[in-house]
Amino acid sequence: MLHYGLHVKNWGRRVKPSRLKAMQIFVSNNRSYAGHRWSDQDVSRFRQTLAQHPTLTPATIVVHGGYLIDLAADRDVELKTGSVDGLSPDSKLAKSLAKLTSELELTTRLGLQHYVLHPGICKSTSPVIRQHAHRLAGRRIGQVCHQFSEVKILVENMTGKSKLGWTPEECGEILQAAKACGATNVGLCVDTAHLWGAGLDPETAFDAFERCCGSIDVLHLNDSAVKHGANLDRHAVPGQGQIPPHYFETWVQDPRFRDIPVIVECQADTTLLMERLVTTGSLQINT
Ligand SMILES: [Zn+2]
Repeated sequence: MLHYGLHVKNWGRRVKPSRLKAMQIFVSNNRSYAGHRWSDQDVSRFRQTLAQHPTLTPATIVVHGGYLIDLAADRDVELKTGSVDGLSPDSKLAKSLAKLTSELELTTRLGLQHYVLHPGICKSTSPVIRQHAHRLAGRRIGQVCHQFSEVKILVENMTGKSKLGWTPEECGEILQAAKACGATNVGLCVDTAHLWGAGLDPETAFDAFERCCGSIDVLHLNDSAVKHGANLDRHAVPGQGQIPPHYFETWVQDPRFRDIPVIVECQADTTLLMERLVTTGSLQINT
């Protein structure tokens, strides 16, 4: 059975009555560089609740990293000096690394196993510059992740003109660079709205991701409100966007997603829709 669920704003309110088999949460303000504010009491309350939950486990609650983390930031400084040691604490990279470390430290204390990361920003479309940015982001992941060996850091494929990781090859470059630093706890999250926005072929994209990156650890099962290849990131409820519905019906049957968290990220509560999709194999209401 598919471990389907959704991204929730307030896990405490949602977790109790929930029939969800997976869940995704932010653990700090996703639109700021501020670190988390969980007390020891908050952490033990979370762990107790999770231990008693009938369907959720530490492997099926996913932490999503803050949106401002940019591991390709301050490329020029590192190119010139060969190090980030002298970097100002106000620099984008220093703030990104502090945020990442705070969130990974909390993910470890919560006992959760998956942390999804938007790898960073690169405004250039030059293949050489993009390759450099991907390798740098991968090295920075590699340098941080050994401190948090119980958490797997998952690079997410992205869409949008300034983002890293549009394609399976680009995500693969990041992961290879992290692994070259000795990282073993890194992996992949694929977002269906992002692969659609980036213009990848929905028929073959997952095979390409597996070829370039290894197995998929988390799936973000979002529809997209934009045309194929528009390179914009606009999520929609599955069946209500531009991705033909039969892809969702095929994806929920795909054995490679059977044992991983499958998360819908949109404003609406899609629990009933996902239950129907999984049990009837269809997004049509009257079947
Ligand atoms: Zn994401």
